[in-house]
Amino acid sequence: MVFKYESSPIKEWKGFKGRPFLISGPCSAETEEQVMQTAKQLAGLNQIVVFRAGIWKPRTRPNSFEGVGQEGLKWLRNVRQETGLLVGTEVANEKHVYEALKYGIDVLWIGARTSVNPFAVQEISDALNGVDVIVLVKNPINPDLELWIGAIERIARAGITRIGAIHRGFSAYEKTIYRNQPNWQLPIELRRRIPDIPLICDPSHIAGSRQYIFEISQKAMDLNFDGLMIESHIDPSKALSDAAQQLTPNDLRELLSRLIYRNPNPSDPRLLDVLGELRQQIDVYDEHLLDLMEKRMKVAETIGQYKKENNITILQSTRWEEIINKVMVKGMAKGLSPEMIDTIFKAIHQESINHQMKVMNDEVNPKK
Ligand code: PEP
Ligand code: MN
Repeated sequence: MVFKYESSPIKEWKGFKGRPFLISGPCSAETEEQVMQTAKQLAGLNQIVVFRAGIWKPRTRPNSFEGVGQEGLKWLRNVRQETGLLVGTEVANEKHVYEALKYGIDVLWIGARTSVNPFAVQEISDALNGVDVIVLVKNPINPDLELWIGAIERIARAGITRIGAIHRGFSAYEKTIYRNQPNWQLPIELRRRIPDIPLICDPSHIAGSRQYIFEISQKAMDLNFDGLMIESHIDPSKALSDAAQQLTPNDLRELLSRLIYRNPNPSDPRLLDVLGELRQQIDVYDEHLLDLMEKRMKVAETIGQYKKENNITILQSTRWEEIINKVMVKGMAKGLSPEMIDTIFKAIHQESINHQMKVMNDEVNPKK
């Protein structure tokens, strides 16, 4: 189901300077000086729309820096006055909302540890009823699209029209080079489900480390995201939170200058012709894939019938092992990634098992 709400397009948001809509600032507000210096340097880039700083910090373990609290809101208010940037911070409960609004904060975002919790999001939504601010909803830490959509829906119900979604990656038990897994298919699917919502990527929290921020930002731009939220600090290595992933404003300037912005809506007819033809090819291959899948499942059902008649279990582990090893070698030789081969064949195998189960339970009879 496509979810519709009364939305204000990002192009009409106050301060909009073109794509990408840029949000930057330290992970946490630490001192008045650190906040103001970072903000002035960022304002000097002439590209940043929103200055961000965490005032209340959700930390995994207690006894780490949990933010400066209300005091920092005054610093943000000063940033707004001195630089003209919009200012934004994270809110996790109604008290945060009331305090942030009291200090004229323009942008409130709901963090990943809060968007997982419908009680907390509802409380925030109630506190926002009838208020006109920008609200950005980060994806929940677990890769659950419905939870993300649910949080956005709760905020929309408060009458907020300037809502954005922030993709900051998802936690996974198995660690990779990134701190959080991008699972790009989730924001892509979110865009399909809520076509009007501005999509902002937070490469800092996906990367967890400065060196990967550029490649993730570029990917987000290639996927036609509307904006980026990138953490910056005047002295990143001394930051009290997320030291490894923050950039100096100067490094941010350099990163932004290297980004390539491709055209999401090409209008040159020759280009469209070529694209149209290539897309037709893709559609044909997709149909082939579906036809093949159908045929494969028919064979699986026949095997199911045979197993049923001969009282054999459905799962034959050695056979499955043999299949996955074989397709891995063949697929990689064709330039396919091991991750995709693994995902697709696990799904196909599961689908085969489901079809065989149906035969076993007499829901399907392949002989008919
Ligand atoms: C942050 O933006 O500093 C933050 C805590 O982000 P997240 O909720 O995405 O972890
Ligand atoms: Mn952070």
